[in-house]
Parts: sequence; C-alpha cells; structure tokens
Amino acid sequence: MFDSLSEKLESVFKKLRGQGVMTEDNIKEALREVRLALLEADVNFKVVKDFVENVRGKAVGSEVLQSLSPGQQVVRIVHDELVAVMGGHEDNSLDLAAKPPVAIMMVGLQGAGKTTTCGKLGRHLKGLKRRPLLVPADVYRPAAIEQLKTVGRQLGLEVFNSSADQKPVDICTAAMKFAELNGYDTVILDTAGRHQIDDYLMNELAEINTVVQPLEILFVADAMTGQEAVNVASGFNDKLAITGVVLTKLDGDAKGGAALSIKAVTGKPIKFVGLGEKLDALEVFHADRLVSRILG
Ligand code: GDP
Repeated sequence: MFDSLSEKLESVFKKLRGQGVMTEDNIKEALREVRLALLEADVNFKVVKDFVENVRGKAVGSEVLQSLSPGQQVVRIVHDELVAVMGGHEDNSLDLAAKPPVAIMMVGLQGAGKTTTCGKLGRHLKGLKRRPLLVPADVYRPAAIEQLKTVGRQLGLEVFNSSADQKPVDICTAAMKFAELNGYDTVILDTAGRHQIDDYLMNELAEINTVVQPLEILFVADAMTGQEAVNVASGFNDKLAITGVVLTKLDGDAKGGAALSIKAVTGKPIKFVGLGEKLDALEVFHADRLVSRILG
C-alpha cells in the first residue's frame, strides 16, 4: 500500500529539496503535484482541498521563502500536515478506565474484518494484562459464531457461549453478567455486519449500545474499499457515535486514501491498523509512523 503515492511525493520532494531559491510559483507548482498525487491515491476531495490550502498558507510566508533551505522547509510542512490530517500526535489508546467489566463494541460491514479483529484485540489486551471475553453476537452470518470460537481457541481466549437463535441484545446482556461473575474485565462484542448500512442493523446496534453502554465503539473499516470505507464510517458515526476506527487490510495493495481521509471526515481517530490475516497482525496506530512509511 502507498507505493504509488510514495513514489509520486518523493519525486515532488526531490525537486523541492534541490531548490536553493524559491518563489510562490514554485510552491504552487509543487502543491499542484502533491494535490494530484493525493487525489490519485483516492484521498477524499475535500480533505485534499483543505490540506493543500493549509500547506500553501504555511509555505508561502517570507520566512520560508527567504530561509536557507526553502525546499526542505516545504517538505517538512507537507510532512507535518499529513500527520495532522491523520490525527496528529494524539493518544489513540483505548479508554477502558471504568469499573469492570467494560465493553468494546465492534461494528462494521460484513467482511471488513470484525471477527478477526476481535481476536487480535483480545490478544492485544491480554498482553496488557487484561482478561478479555470474546462475545459472538452476530447471529445472522451462519459461520460467525463458530469463527470466533476458533479464533478464541487459537489465542487461548474465553469465548462466551451464544447461539444463533438468541437475540443479539440478549447475548450481550448475558455476556456482561457472565463477565462480572467470572472476573473478565473487558468484553469484546462481535456484532453483525451487512453488505451495506440498513435500518434494521442500525437499530439493533443502537439497542445494544443503549443496554450495554460500551466504553468504546470501534468501526472496523476495510482499507481496500477506499472512499467507500470513509462514507460507511460516516454513516455509522452519525447513527452510533463511534469512538474510533480500526483500519484493516493495510497490508493489501489499496491506494491508501481511506487511511488518509477517515479521521478528517469522521473526526474520530484511527486507533488500530490491521496488517495481515494472522492474529498478531494488529498495531496501535501512530499517524507519524504511517507518514514516515509513506514519505520514506
Ligand atoms: P467480518 O465479516 O467483518 O467479521 O470479517 P472477518 O473477520 O471474517 O474477515 C474477513 C476476511 O478478511 C478474512 O479472510 C480475514 O482473514 C481477512 N482480514 C481481516 N483483517 C485483515 C487484515 O488486516 N489484513 C488482511 N490481509 N486480511 C484481513
């Protein structure tokens, strides 16, 4: 991922770095190329527009133009703005500080990677010395419950016993009770997905949200679906007030637009990224690290 964007930005930067003297026109020309590279990487149009305006505002001042290395300074401004667009240096860790058991509700479209990410997250939390309980609350996809059980077995994590004839909200309520009685401090709810947002699903998720009151609602977004992931994230955020995003399949060959747009469009931070099908392929998200990966 990001290969093509990286290449294009690197060529703009190479030109910029070589310039000992710079004019507003040089900057405008460079920013035109940056703009095109971002649009080609499938970054949201409005996000690109704001980004380029911000960079231009900071780059055309006399301080930059008259400095000893104006090109280098513009490169730094682009770098810093990219970090800012993706959430800056804010702390993206989960907010689980409350009386246990606390709940994390995973939501998203079918195939986005929810079930896999539930396992990955459980493993991550176990590493932080928490006692997670995985809860299959997707009663519509026939294999979902079994899939989470398999993931739990692989990771040595407890999976709550549920069956497809129960109501999801009842499963979640019973799981919270079970966690309380058995000393599990974090309940990870694997909810149902659909191929698109529909009212039935949203009402069901809203009901679980009301009854369980999860501390975190994480929207699981498939980075391979680009702008669609950003639109769907907005839809879920409007209805559910998500607390963060997990961007999966960043190991794939998508262009990266979703990673660059989702925070700016939804206002909600990317908290984790999925980097593979294996259950250890989850990383806490750091905007500056991703930008370093893009800019080399
Ligand atoms: P769900 O329908 O949202 O529960 O999605 P699943 O967890 O079943 O995942 C759908 C597919 O995506 C599975 O084949 C997963 O192995 C795969 N997957 C999930 N996360 C990642 C990731 O970060 N990278 C890659 N390459 N594949 C992933």
